[in-house]
Amino acid sequence: MFNIKYELNKIKEAGLYRNLKYLEQSQNPKTIIDGKEVLLLASNDYLGLCSDERLKKAAIEAINEFGVGSGGSRLTTGSYRFHQEVEEKIAEFLKEEKSIVFNSGYVANVGTISALCDKNFAIFSDELNHTSIIDGCRLSKAKIIVYKHCDLNDLQKKLNKYKRANSLIVTDGVFSMDGDIAPLPDILKLALKENCLTMVDEAHSLGILGKDGRGLREYFNLKEKIDINMGTLSKVLASEGGYVAGDKMLIDYLKNKARSFIYSTASAPANIKVILKALEIVESENERRENLRKNIFWFKNKLRDKGFKLINYEEPTPIIPLIIGDSDKVYKFSELLFEAGIYVPSIRPPSVPLGTSRLRISLMATHTKKDLEIALEKIEKCAKKLKII
Ligand SMILES: *Cc1c(COP(=O)(O)O)cnc(C)c1O
Repeated sequence: MFNIKYELNKIKEAGLYRNLKYLEQSQNPKTIIDGKEVLLLASNDYLGLCSDERLKKAAIEAINEFGVGSGGSRLTTGSYRFHQEVEEKIAEFLKEEKSIVFNSGYVANVGTISALCDKNFAIFSDELNHTSIIDGCRLSKAKIIVYKHCDLNDLQKKLNKYKRANSLIVTDGVFSMDGDIAPLPDILKLALKENCLTMVDEAHSLGILGKDGRGLREYFNLKEKIDINMGTLSKVLASEGGYVAGDKMLIDYLKNKARSFIYSTASAPANIKVILKALEIVESENERRENLRKNIFWFKNKLRDKGFKLINYEEPTPIIPLIIGDSDKVYKFSELLFEAGIYVPSIRPPSVPLGTSRLRISLMATHTKKDLEIALEKIEKCAKKLKII
């Protein structure tokens, strides 16, 4: 018989047991976690919109007018005008024909990949792609070929060997645990040459990269099309949900075939109204992106000066991994920081490959210079204590 207690013990002995920490205030640079006042260096709310007054107002008004639940799946009674509006707005923002909104980024990936790729497909997937991509690939029953992280040579080699008439190349745009950017121009050229479909997950680039926050196409100034533009509405956009944008036919197809779209209750009115307002803010308030970018480069520079090795030093992404390797040591590092009033989570396997446990720092546009100075000082102190630097 499957022994849950034994399995749990195995996790504990490997130093991989996970404890939840609970927030007792809103998602701000300064918040309260488990009764302790901390500086938050861990949020995906990169532009600091989770407690924006305008978004709160949009949510409250939506609740007053439309109630709290959506009451049905999108194909029955759960589609409201604002679902249509938000899908149009996302498509317009990304300069694509159409978009479809799912209830989370996770189910957007799972539903889209499994709806599109059948057993005759070959899917070429970066080894560090997000779990929701991996799960979508597995559910699709396609042949899955994993290529080395951002390695075009390896991808070409594997295409030569395994490509089928129906092939998809899928990648995170900004990798969620490494914070580096996929070499998209090269990937798209290769896909064009090899006649493969392409899918990019912009969970950590929408709203951040590109002059107006339109993500990687804008950042790289790309002319080539990405067939399947996926992203989440739960990070920069401070709500809940995921989207896929692309050609009208693709979106039509997903509305008819993606099971995580069809068989799940539609997102609540307040969530959708928040997204609509958040998109406006993201589009118009460039200074948020600018603040974030300043914070990123200031902090990375200082970390490097202190002797930390950074794997994504050059890149303007708010995810800064400090790779330590040993799971126990990373856990201790995170706990020491927490005692010192800084929250940075330790990320351990299976979220990252074995031997690459890390602290995952993430920065927000709303961190002040003072916040970052304090964080830096504490990080240095704790790292020295553990002989990390
Ligand atoms: C967070 C994340 C997702 C999932 O999005 P949710 O809206 O949180 O479900 C998908 N892909 C990547 C790369 C992510 O970081």
